Parts: sequence; structure tokens; C-alpha cells
Amino acid sequence: MASPLREPGQIEGRLDSVGFLIEEEDLREEVRDVLRSAPDMARAVSRLAFARGSPRDLSAVRDGLTMASRCASLLASQGDGMGLPEELGQITARLRAVGEELHGALAAALVDDPPHLRRDGGFVREGYRPELDEARRLREDSRGVMAALEVKYIESTGIKSLKVRHNNILGFYVEATQGNAKPLFEEPLSGTFRHRQTMANAVRFSTAELAETEGRIAAATQRALSLEQDIFAELATAVQNEEQGLGEVAAALAELDATAGLAELARMEGYVRPAIDDSQAFEIHGGRHPVVEQALKASKAGPFIENDCILGRVEIPPTPGFDESTDARIWLVTGPNMAGKSTFLRQNALIVVLAQMGSYVPARVATIGVVDRLFSRVGASDDLARGRSTFMVEMVETAAILNQATDRSLVILDEIGRGTATFDGLSIAWATVEFLHDVSKVRVLFATHYHELTALARRLDGVANVTMDVREWHDEIVFLHKVKPGAADRSYGIQVAKLAGLPENVIGRAREVLALLEKTESKKGVRDGPLDELPLFAVTRPQGPPVEDQGPSPVDKAVDAIKPDELTPRAALDAIYRLKTLRNAKTKPKR
Ligand code: ATP
Repeated sequence: MASPLREPGQIEGRLDSVGFLIEEEDLREEVRDVLRSAPDMARAVSRLAFARGSPRDLSAVRDGLTMASRCASLLASQGDGMGLPEELGQITARLRAVGEELHGALAAALVDDPPHLRRDGGFVREGYRPELDEARRLREDSRGVMAALEVKYIESTGIKSLKVRHNNILGFYVEATQGNAKPLFEEPLSGTFRHRQTMANAVRFSTAELAETEGRIAAATQRALSLEQDIFAELATAVQNEEQGLGEVAAALAELDATAGLAELARMEGYVRPAIDDSQAFEIHGGRHPVVEQALKASKAGPFIENDCILGRVEIPPTPGFDESTDARIWLVTGPNMAGKSTFLRQNALIVVLAQMGSYVPARVATIGVVDRLFSRVGASDDLARGRSTFMVEMVETAAILNQATDRSLVILDEIGRGTATFDGLSIAWATVEFLHDVSKVRVLFATHYHELTALARRLDGVANVTMDVREWHDEIVFLHKVKPGAADRSYGIQVAKLAGLPENVIGRAREVLALLEKTESKKGVRDGPLDELPLFAVTRPQGPPVEDQGPSPVDKAVDAIKPDELTPRAALDAIYRLKTLRNAKTKPKR
């Protein structure tokens, strides 16, 4: 995902592999089964290369190689009949990049489940090195000798409770209770037992035999340990010598894992193979957002509604309803808050990333002219530590898009210019669309609440308006999440605010203010004064119900009553005075 491809041929190569594993269900399942327990071989190799490895790292390399060879045989045997796609063929070869020798040595040398620590030994399998087996035997035998000595001392002293014990200070010693120990201080036993320590309840002695046996055990243990360390060093060197090949195997395992995973995903979620070419086409039918779709499924919040997105010239029959916009590279997406604009933008960007990394995509049909760079400006965040306010960040991002996008790029803009005064923001958004249309000639999805921008579709051939469908029902809105041609006339911000839980009186007051603003706007046509910071959608919003309908004013009535043809000059003058009086009475503030 971090570095999708830009070369259609390479993308097709990956898609072939994913497609093959979609078809070959059994093979896919077997491969995924093997990979499920695959260790992180690359990490183990690098730890061993830096001399920080443990016996577990050696076993990770061993297990990784076992899995690589199993996967290679699975692929080779299944692929034989029909031939593997090229990429999978290469993966199979790379899985065998390391000779059997290293794998054989690791398998023979290591116990199945070796310990973490190298220093305590115990990781080399019995039978691997005769000297080690010998040293271990000696160690075990000596332990047996200790047990035999205990029996012998019990017999020779007649003290039944006598014990041979070990601690780190005295090493091996003989212990008897205070009550029983007396004979050991006396002849003839005192010649054999040398007093070492008297405790509250026990007396401890050493003997020449004990010391000698202890020396033998220590030597054998030391020898076994040092042999194991030697074997570890040999194996670690062998791994280091194959570092490059092992890296290749680890990468091949990872690629196979990713390919099989993508195949599984495509199969489970009904993804389709995208057609990728060098054109500027962008045509997604029935596209879905891969993550929101899963989130809805998990929360059982209803189905995800699929949507089409067709940018630029389309050669195959256009979608019904989109005939006029099939030549448009830029789609202006308007619609209420919460209607799904951001989701729509992002799903199309994600489909591009998925397609170009070689994955099938969540859509019914997808044709994508390869995208050289994907630009997005979404959300609002600041970067105060680097001296950038929210609006500044937004503008820096927009500048990067305008300076860098080419006619092969895809741009998603989720609103521009919201962090400044409305007219400034609208002007910047307007000029940005013109630039993207005339200069960058790039494919763009632009979601906006500046409904004024939709006028651009009439002025610029390459711009089309689409909107998110909603239904109004008893002053509530129902989101249909469906993209359709056309422009929205309002944003239903207050309804959404109500859904979000703003207090009832705030919502009520907001409705009053909105009604007043709309009335003022519709009279003036252009805003001024305190309206500066309000969203412009209010300008184009159709008239709501009048605040107060009082019928024709007295001035209107008086004007209606005048019959100009029947007036004498004197009566006309009187009429003018009367109208002026009425007008003055009306404009006087009511108190
Ligand atoms: P705003 O203008 O307030 O930013 P928006 O129009 O960008 O809103 P989104 O954030 O895209 O709206 O969507 C809001 C929610 O609607 C999503 O979190 C998702 O749950 C739901 N939604 C969006 N698109 C769809 C869809 N196609 N099908 C089903 N649910 C959807």
C-alpha cells in the first residue's frame, strides 16, 4: 500500500497472480495454512547478522525455510498442469533461493522448540555432535555418582537422615541434623568428613570425593556449554553467509502472503479485477468504500450503497443519468452534511491505490488509466509547532496540488477554503477549480458546500455536478447515500446539528436566524455586513416559508388605488404627498 505501482504491465502481473489464487481455492487455502505459522524470518536474520541473535532466531530461520520449501512445492505441483502466472513462478523460484544445506544443518542441529537464551545452552539436538553428547553424558553420570555417594554415606555413618545437598557457596556438601552429627566429628569418621558450617538445626561437612565429583560435573557442564556456544556460532555464521538468499526467501514468503491474502479478500468480499491502462480513463461502476463497508457490516447498520464514478471520456456505454457528464474530468460533489461525500471521494482514491498495488477492487467494474500521483486534501488540522494555522495548512496542501498535479494524477479535495471568510474561501475554491481544469487538466473529485461553485459546470466543459441524494420526511432528512447528477441547493446543516444533539433552543434559534438571513439575502441578492462569515449556500437556498405574511402594505394599496388617467394635477400632487406619508409611517421602527 505504501508504494503502489505506475507501470500497467507490472500491475497486470500482480493481478494475474491474485486472479490465479482466487481460482485455485485449494491451493490458496493450503498456502495460507502453511503461512499462518510462518515466523518473521527477515528479523531473525538481521538479529543474527548483528550478533544479537538467540537460538529462537535460528529456529525461526529453520521454520521459515521449511515453510518456504513447502509453499514452493505446493505452487510447483499445482501450477504444473496449467502453468503458474509469471509473478508466482518467480516467487516459487525465490522461495528456493537458499540451498538445502543450511536448512538441513539447522534442522539437524536444533531442538524443536529452543529456549530464548543462548547462554544456558540446551538448544542443540542430541546426536548432532558426538563430543556434546559425551559431555552431557558425563554430566548426567556424575549426577548419578552424587546420588550413589549419599547412599554410601548413610550406610557408613548409620545416619538415615543424612543428605547430599548443593548451594552456591559451599557447592556439594553432606548435611546431618545437630542431634545426629556427633559421630562425624569423631574418629574414624572425622577423617572423611571435614566440618564446614554449623546452622541452628544442621551441621554441614565436605568430603574429598564430593569435591572431586563436583569438579567433574562442573567441567562436563562447562564443556557441554562451550560446545553448544561453538555450534551456535557456526550456525549463525552459516546464516550470515546466506543473508542475501534468506532475505530473498523472506521477501518471497511475504509477497506470497500478500498475494494469497488479496485473493482471499477478493473472494470473500466480491472484489473485481480492475482494467489498468495508459489512458486517462477513470470509470468505476458500483464502487464501495472498503473500510466503511466493513464498519457498517460489523455494526449491522445497513448495507453500503455502491456508487459510480466516471471521470473523463468514456468509450463504453455510459451509465444512465451520466450521459452528459461523461466528458467531465472534474466532478463537483455537493450535498447535505453526512450524506456521504467524503466517503465517496475516499473510496475512489482507495480503489486507485488498491488497483495499482495489484489488488482486486471493491466495485462491479473498474477501468483506470494509471494514476501517476494521488493527491488528497481532506480534513482540517493545524501544525502550530511549525508555525502553521489550520487555514495555512489547508493552503499549503492546496498549493502542493496545484504545483504538482499532472494530467495523469487524481486529486480528491474535500472542501477548500472553509477556514477563512466565506468570500475569500469561495474565491480560492473557484480559482482552484479553474486552474485544475484549464492548466493541470487533472482528474478531480471535489466535495464542497459552496453551492455557488456548481455554476462552473455551465462555464467549463470538463466540470460536472453530482449530488448526494436525500429525501425529506416530516422535517427530517433521510440519507440515501446515492450519487446522482445535479447540484444540491441546501446543506441541511441544522437538521444534522439536531441529529448530533445540539440543544433544542439552539436549534430553534438557528432556524429563526436562517429564515431571516435567507429573506435578507433573497432581497439583496448579495450579502453584506454581518452576513460575511455565513456559508454561501444560504444565498441560493430557495425561499423557506415567509416569516410573517401580512398581505399588501398600505403603500401598495394606495398605489393600487391611484388611477393616473383620471387625476387632475392637484389630485396627483396630493397623491404623492399621501404616499410619502404612508412610506414614512412604515419605515418608522415599531416600539
Ligand atoms: P459532511 O459534509 O458533514 O462532511 P459527508 O457528506 O462528507 O458529510 P460522509 O462523512 O462521507 O458524509 O458520510 C457520513 C456517514 O454516512 C459515514 O460515516 C457512513 O456511515 C455513512 N455513509 C456514507 N456513504 C455511505 C454509503 N455509500 N452507503 C452507506 N452509508 C454511507
